[in-house]
Amino acid sequence: MSLEDLWFDSSKCLIAGEWVAPSSGQTLPLMNPSTGEQIGEIARGQEADVDAAVNAARKAYDGVWSRTPAVERGRILMRLQRLVEEKVDQLARLEALDVGKPLKQARADAVALARYMEFYGGAADKLHGQTIPYLDGYTVYTMREPHGVTAHIVPWNYPMQIIGRSVGAALAAGNACVLKPAEDACLTALAFADLAKAAGLPDGVLNVVPGLGGEAGAALSGHDGIDHVSFTGSVATGAMIQATAAKNVVPVTLELGGKSPQVVFNDADIDAALPFLVNAGVQNAGQTCSASSRILVQRGVYDEVVGRMAERYGQLRVGQAMSDLDVGPLISAKQKGIVSGFLDQGADLETAGQAKLVDAPEGGNYVVPTLFSGVSAGHALARDEIFGPVQVAIPFDDEDEAVAIANGTDYGLVASVWSESGARQMRLARAIRAGQVFINNYGAGGGVELPFGGMGKSGHGREKGFEALYGFTVLKTVAAFHG
Ligand code: NAD
Repeated sequence: MSLEDLWFDSSKCLIAGEWVAPSSGQTLPLMNPSTGEQIGEIARGQEADVDAAVNAARKAYDGVWSRTPAVERGRILMRLQRLVEEKVDQLARLEALDVGKPLKQARADAVALARYMEFYGGAADKLHGQTIPYLDGYTVYTMREPHGVTAHIVPWNYPMQIIGRSVGAALAAGNACVLKPAEDACLTALAFADLAKAAGLPDGVLNVVPGLGGEAGAALSGHDGIDHVSFTGSVATGAMIQATAAKNVVPVTLELGGKSPQVVFNDADIDAALPFLVNAGVQNAGQTCSASSRILVQRGVYDEVVGRMAERYGQLRVGQAMSDLDVGPLISAKQKGIVSGFLDQGADLETAGQAKLVDAPEGGNYVVPTLFSGVSAGHALARDEIFGPVQVAIPFDDEDEAVAIANGTDYGLVASVWSESGARQMRLARAIRAGQVFINNYGAGGGVELPFGGMGKSGHGREKGFEALYGFTVLKTVAAFHG
């Protein structure tokens, strides 16, 4: 497998509109998760590169960008949409190669990236303040102003989707950005920035510095030249970033992990639920913040649901990203080690279903997707985020017990309710503590219009949808006394 789809130099940073080598001259290996082979190099950006990127963003913001009308920002994003669309197949192959996800899933991510540009391009000139009726003699209104320079630290699991929702919204709202992609997958971040340049985004408005979290990431989140941090990743890193940003009193949006339940009642349409029950656990090899790793099933249908999920597991084929099967490898040998550790912890549990490795070269980061059944809510596999293709089925008796189990982790990202009772749907939608509750579906097709974010340790702030634009702006109140 090669990097023939690359049209830019993957070992550079993009700073002030120029492709530059990292100041240290050092690189990091670019690995193919499907084979475990090194296939190239990426820049190992460090503090000096981050500093240059933040300064470039500031200069671009103070100069051209803060004076660019909202409608023109929108037009640039819509030109970018078209450029992404023209390169959908190349972007998909790069993402599949870099992340290990099956090609059709990578293609869906590239299509989503274009859709984010369309949505935020169209929204840029529709963001406005309000007038507020006040005392006689006053005119009071609010303005939504960009923060200025925003930092975007993103993970490896959905680079294109997360960059689309975070950088897309920040640019639409008028910010200049510094993007730190994950060291395990940064090709499409670089590709996106190159396309943004071609779409006419002024130099310095979007800068990309690949590098290690503890180096480039830490330097960016602690830089006193940034005005906002948007972070997607693990709870531990998110907490660290919030503490670091607090030193500069900078607002932070955190999109963290989850342990998301699907709750299946006796009256559910099981035929409709089944594909969602399994797919939400194994998509992207379970490396999805909103993965559904807990399947709560009422006892009346428990055996049927688990049996039919197990059948589906038996049909799942695991293999190289480019073979485009159902499930690919994990991102890295490290992640494989973590997920294998969890699978070992399931040794005392009943294995209900397992997928098949059919095209998994030795050296690739493969694990066998597994469904465990009869799991108690307190078991580590039912409590901790695994971030791999592992699901647990947990039986319950009644609605109160289902809610208690659903809310019984530190997380609160996504939940779904499968029931034909409208009253129950409404009760559960209220009672479950999660940023998103889906009824008789899971994920609603991932529409860019739908605000997304967590409660509890799943984070705070909202990305996606129009709501994200509020997060990437600061509200100013103007009160004029004119007698
Ligand atoms: P991670 O937190 O290790 O890394 C995420 C990003 O943060 C990477 O770019 C990394 O380089 C950077 N980083 C690491 N240490 C840093 C530091 N000290 N300072 C600044 N930046 C640092 O997470 P990961 O392993 O890449 O991703 C997996 C985790 O992310 C999972 O727990 C998952 O639940 C979560 N996630 C959440 C969402 C969401 O939308 N809620 C989406 C994707 C992933």
